[in-house]
Amino acid sequence: MNDLLGRPLRNLRLSVTDRCNLRCEYCMPEDDYVWLPREDVLHFEETSALVDIFLALGVDKIRLTGGEPLLRRDLSALVRMIASKPGLKDLALTTNGVLLADQIDALKAAGLGRITVSLDTLHRDRFVKLTRFDQLDAVYAGIAAAQRALGRMKIDTVVIRGVNDDELVPLLEYGRSVNGEVRFIEYMDVGGASQWSPSRVVSRLEILDALAKHYGKITPIDEPGSAAPAGRFAIGDGTTFGIIASTTEPFCRTCDRSRLTADGMWYLCLYATRGVDLRGPLRRGADADELKAIIAAGWRRRDDRGAEDRLALGDRRAFVPVQDLLRKDPHLEMHTRGG
Ligand code: SAM
Repeated sequence: MNDLLGRPLRNLRLSVTDRCNLRCEYCMPEDDYVWLPREDVLHFEETSALVDIFLALGVDKIRLTGGEPLLRRDLSALVRMIASKPGLKDLALTTNGVLLADQIDALKAAGLGRITVSLDTLHRDRFVKLTRFDQLDAVYAGIAAAQRALGRMKIDTVVIRGVNDDELVPLLEYGRSVNGEVRFIEYMDVGGASQWSPSRVVSRLEILDALAKHYGKITPIDEPGSAAPAGRFAIGDGTTFGIIASTTEPFCRTCDRSRLTADGMWYLCLYATRGVDLRGPLRRGADADELKAIIAAGWRRRDDRGAEDRLALGDRRAFVPVQDLLRKDPHLEMHTRGG
């Protein structure tokens, strides 16, 4: 099933909670937030029922995210419900790693295939400043546990000028030491990222330049037909890394991702200000065919190109005004819709 720009519905990011145990300055910088009402948060059975519909319509990749997904009690029970569903090729999880050491074995046993850990700095003082919590050691423990359990992982790093742009090489080296492929992410102006400014964005080209200065020749890895957000590269010894250039070189044209929030709102673009309510119909007793029709209709009229639109705006204004809009609707926050 394709949208108006010919993009297939394939990749679903399932946010299982809007709560987080860190307060990263580029994602959740505010002191207080409007949380999703607890009674609105989907039960696992409800999420699983919606996943069935998405799979029937062509989704074959699911990533669990949040908020911090490991804060959702008994997440492995949801993993178990989803992992064995026919048609699902890839089940992954994105986490800040703080609670990972305790949970990785249960998650793996439940069928989790892949994991991405977010890590922006190797300096304890910077970590504390960036996230407001002294949890770097817990993240390292989580990464070590993931390496033991799954063998390898991805490590996602948001690069911010003046914050961690001097750590590209150390992060790559650290990634190599734990069998983690590092993906450098350009700082995006989405939702709660109120600290965003164009001058803080380190572009893909700058990242490549900095790494080439240290490693010499960097070779792009050709992946024809890939809808993956990261362009991948290799340094001389074969170590690979990725760059997600969502800000300076958006990949809207191939974007097959959509997002379901913990309370069952379905967003067809990370930047969309409106979603499709799936919880309402589900709780009113809509059957599979009705839900399928709602989702299919939503995808068929999708023409979003949020990152391209944001790029076209330049640095004229914040994409989502925090006071006017964000304060009133938690769905617009990155931590609600899952990054
Ligand atoms: N708590 C989990 C974690 O930390 O990975 C999952 C949710 S988090 C919103 C998902 C990803 O979005 C993280 O890798 C985070 O770094 C990224 N992210 C959040 N705000 C961002 C921003 N303004 N620009 C780029 N990436 C961002």
